[in-house]
Amino acid sequence: MLEGKIAVVTGASRGIGKAVALKLASMGATVVVNYNGSKEKAEEVKQEIEAGGGTASICQCNVSDHEACKSMIQDVMDAYGRIDILVNNAGITRDGLLMKMSEEDFDRVIDINLKGAFNTTRFVVRQMLRQKSGRIINMASVVGVTGNAGQVNYAASKAGIIGLTKATAREVASRGITVNAIAPGFIETDMTDVLSDKVKEASVSQIPLGRFGKPEQVAAAAAFLASEDAGYITGQVLHVDGGMVM
Ligand code: NAP
Repeated sequence: MLEGKIAVVTGASRGIGKAVALKLASMGATVVVNYNGSKEKAEEVKQEIEAGGGTASICQCNVSDHEACKSMIQDVMDAYGRIDILVNNAGITRDGLLMKMSEEDFDRVIDINLKGAFNTTRFVVRQMLRQKSGRIINMASVVGVTGNAGQVNYAASKAGIIGLTKATAREVASRGITVNAIAPGFIETDMTDVLSDKVKEASVSQIPLGRFGKPEQVAAAAAFLASEDAGYITGQVLHVDGGMVM
C-alpha cells in the first residue's frame, strides 16, 4: 500500500514513533528512523524493520536544531531522491506548575515539540511542492485541546502544533499535500511510564474506554492518514484518546 514511498519519522527510536515506523514499513514504505540520543534503540528499530522484510535507515538529528534538520532532510534526499511522508512525532515533557516552571523548561519543550515540527516541515515541504504530493502528520495531544494543570509548556506546544498543522494545510493543499494532526490521549510509553500510580489512576478515570492506549493504536491512525484512502482529508485533528475529548 505504501510501496515505493519514502517516510521520515522523527523520534522513532521509542514509543509511538517506533510503532509508526514499524507500521509504515510493514505497509511497504522505506522508513528513515530519526532519533536524538538513543542510537542503539534506533538501530534496533531498523533491524526489526529489516527482519520483517522492510527497508530502513537511521538518522541522528536534534529536531530543535534548524540547521541539523536541513542537513537531515538533505541527506534523505541524497539517499532516496524524494520524501513522501513526514511524521513529526519527536516530543518531550518537562512538567511543573506555572509558578515554578523555569524559563529553560518552557523553552526546551517549545523548541523540540513545536519548533522541531516547523524545522523539518520547512525543508520537507520544499521537496513535496516539487513532487506535487506528500503527507505530513504531526503528533499533537489531547492536552493541546483541553489544557492540563502542570503542563503549560507542553499544552502550549501541542496547541501550537494544531495551529501549525492547519496553517500549513491551507498553504499546501493546492499542491496535493495533506497535513493532519493526531491527538493521542494517554498512551503506554516511556513518557507516561514516569507518572505515579496515583496520577495514572486519576487519568484512567477520565478515559471513557477506561484504559490507556497502545502505541500501535496511534500508529494505525498515522498509517491511515498516510494512505491513499485519506487523500481527501487535510487540516484535521484525529483524536486517539479512548473518548477523552468528544
Ligand atoms: P517517548 O516514548 O518519550 O519517545 C520520545 C521520542 O522522541 C524518542 O524517540 C526520542 O528520541 C525522541 N526525541 C526526543 N527529543 C528529541 C529531539 N530533540 N530530536 C529528535 N528526537 C527527539 O514519547 P512518546 O510517548 O512515544 O511520544 C511521542 C509523541 O507523542 C510526542 O510528541 C508526545 O508529545 C506525543 N504524545 C504522547 C502521549 C503519550 O501518552 N505517550 C500522549 C499524547 C501525545 P531519543 O530516544 O533518541 O531521545
